[in-house]
Amino acid sequence: MLRKGNLFVISGPSGAGKGTIIREVLKSTQEIEISVSVTTRESRRGEVEGVNYYFKSREDFEKMAEEGGFLEYARVYDHYYGTPKEPVLKALDRGENIILEIDIQGALQVKKSYPEAIFVFILPPSMAELRQRIVSRGSETEEALKLRFASALEEISYIEKYDYYIINDTLTASARCLEAVIMAERCRIKKDVTELIENFKEELE
Ligand code: ADP
Ligand code: 5GP
Repeated sequence: MLRKGNLFVISGPSGAGKGTIIREVLKSTQEIEISVSVTTRESRRGEVEGVNYYFKSREDFEKMAEEGGFLEYARVYDHYYGTPKEPVLKALDRGENIILEIDIQGALQVKKSYPEAIFVFILPPSMAELRQRIVSRGSETEEALKLRFASALEEISYIEKYDYYIINDTLTASARCLEAVIMAERCRIKKDVTELIENFKEELE
């Protein structure tokens, strides 16, 4: 019985630790793959094309959007970000579980077009710690840092649209929490379980 894969959508304010938690989970499971987004922002030191993002010009991004190439896309903190549609839908059809690490506007679009997705919100332990984490990552200019921090409270106000939340205090506990969500969703009863029951019946006939 080939079961369709689950689509996990992870959001939360910049610096809450989304990327770090996902990387930790990917270390210990073969069960999940991350979708690589397209962005118009500059690459940060150490980021690799095709691994962290596909870095594109605004023109190329818009062309891809016009051609319907995105599952969702949004303008986030002055840049454009989008999820390439075809690779994600094909992977789900093959039964693979996929993670999207995307902002709230994008998550709301996915909720409309792919309502069976599972939505997970990552919270920092406090606003002070959030600020500290963005600063310590050292990836933003002072201006970008202010914009990201100022957006955090508004972003958090969307938490009720999500199915699960994780307060990212210690990394190990957060990663275990996300693994538990992935595991629980694997065991959720969906339509395709009727096929399994049919097999039981056939076995007895
Ligand atoms: P996001 O992807 O949500 O923007 P990152 O994963 O880049 O956030 O994390 C932001 C910063 O916080 C990074 O420097 C990261 O190493 C650090 N960080 C992430 N999780 C934790 C944690 N549980 N405890 C302490 N620092 C953390
Ligand atoms: P960063 O610039 O720190 O890598 O990402 C900034 C924000 O953009 C984060 O909130 C991240 O979740 C979001 N983001 C990354 N990729 C996508 C995407 O494909 N679509 C949307 N809507 N947001 C994204």
